[in-house]
Amino acid sequence: MSDITSLITATAAELGQRIAAREISSVEVVRAHLDQITATDEAVHAFLVVDTERALAQAAAVDARIAAGERLGPLAGVPIAVKDLLCYEGLPTTAGSRILEGWVPPYSSTVVRRLNDAGLVILGKTNLDEFAMGSSTETSGYGPTHNPWDLTRTPGGSGGGSAAAVSAYQAPLAIGTDTGGSIRQPAAVTGSVGAKPTYGMVSRYGIIAMASSLDQAGPVARTTLDAALLHQVIAGHDPLDSTSINAAVADVVGAARSGDVKGLRIGLVTEFGGEGYAPGVELRTREAVTALSAAGAEVVEVSCPHFVHALATYYLIMPAEVSSNLARYDGMRYGLRVGDDGDNAVETVMRLTRGKGFGTEAKRRIILGTYALSAGYYDAFYGSAQKMRTLIARDFTAAFEQCDVLVSPATPTTAFRLGERVADPMAMYKSDLCTIPANLAGVGAASFPCGLAPEDGLPVGFQVMSPALADDRLYLVGAALERELTAKWGGRLLDQAPLLPGTKVVR
Ligand code: GLN
Repeated sequence: MSDITSLITATAAELGQRIAAREISSVEVVRAHLDQITATDEAVHAFLVVDTERALAQAAAVDARIAAGERLGPLAGVPIAVKDLLCYEGLPTTAGSRILEGWVPPYSSTVVRRLNDAGLVILGKTNLDEFAMGSSTETSGYGPTHNPWDLTRTPGGSGGGSAAAVSAYQAPLAIGTDTGGSIRQPAAVTGSVGAKPTYGMVSRYGIIAMASSLDQAGPVARTTLDAALLHQVIAGHDPLDSTSINAAVADVVGAARSGDVKGLRIGLVTEFGGEGYAPGVELRTREAVTALSAAGAEVVEVSCPHFVHALATYYLIMPAEVSSNLARYDGMRYGLRVGDDGDNAVETVMRLTRGKGFGTEAKRRIILGTYALSAGYYDAFYGSAQKMRTLIARDFTAAFEQCDVLVSPATPTTAFRLGERVADPMAMYKSDLCTIPANLAGVGAASFPCGLAPEDGLPVGFQVMSPALADDRLYLVGAALERELTAKWGGRLLDQAPLLPGTKVVR
């Protein structure tokens, strides 16, 4: 194993420890990842912008502080990729949309500031579906990201760039955001770990809003412990976000280190599975449940009868919020401006800018949302959806009386081919069938790798959902699963990833 290979395949926890012990420097770790990005990103296109100079300067600063005897956090000096939906002062932020091309935020989001404060080194910004609307990264205004497991397939979305960066060994960690599944679904189809914390546990300040009552940022990583360490860094109260919860962050790191599920009651959601689910997804889900049961968990089947309406509910509430949040892109305040040749009235600039700057999916949702909120339709559509949202939240409450966590497949299928679902919005939306209920109820949820589907050799994700504020349970189950399955496979799932063209990864 070459030096570079050992640096890019190490876990974030290992890297942090070795940097703190001065066995390796943050600068060499960061350089190794920048080299991997150079070697692979032409094929993968995970990054929209790489911030080479600032990353190396941040790494050198961490090395200097450690050399001076400072004791920093467990991830100090470890590189990370950030979804291009989070503002990072001085670096272009596009949200994957042409309408924000060239816009440079004058401030950093709270999540980015927490990363900086913890000494993490930001490598750059990752690709996403436009304004995080999509399940394949194909609605990005800057071209799609490719799945490192099979470059002809999508890495999921909207956070396909973050998941692809992690699974292509370009970064050990990444930040994603999840409105309906955009952390968990990409994690599932790239064999990564991705967690959506309880709504309100991670500040939304400085994150470009898609649907504010659903959006939540969270960690993407290759191991459960790494995801927990990152979760710990970014979670916690922030007065700058009015929906931020002022409560203690659950001990996610302790849970990830323990993985003790003896006596934990695990509820398998009966509504997910069957028609539309790939056989390999069903098989690996069942095996994961069996592995957890062998580790001492009690398994029960739990019905959540309203979950079948979650997709329809989401596709009313989300576009309604989108239509309102995206009204600010008017050609006046941010990024692109079209038709500003002196004679045009403000309305003309607005129409031309929005017409040119937004892609098809953003327009579809703005129109749908405006319709659902309009006089005469509000009660029938938006109002009904809000009622159903409450019923879905009650399903969770009732379920958590019978069990400590709920589990299900993370996605109905493995990674699909680029182009396959672009012309069929419903097929695309169905990618998030299993992930959306957790957003509607605001509970914690995560996807953990649980094997490869025999029919196509592609990763399958196992979803765990916890009651609000009990995010530690996600990691307890994730760690148990990782331990049981690693023993069974004789290595990490990602170590089975096929070689990328041009990659320096050696297995
Ligand atoms: N794929 C879902 C959508 O298109 C979820 C997106 C997200 O979580 N940001 O809305």
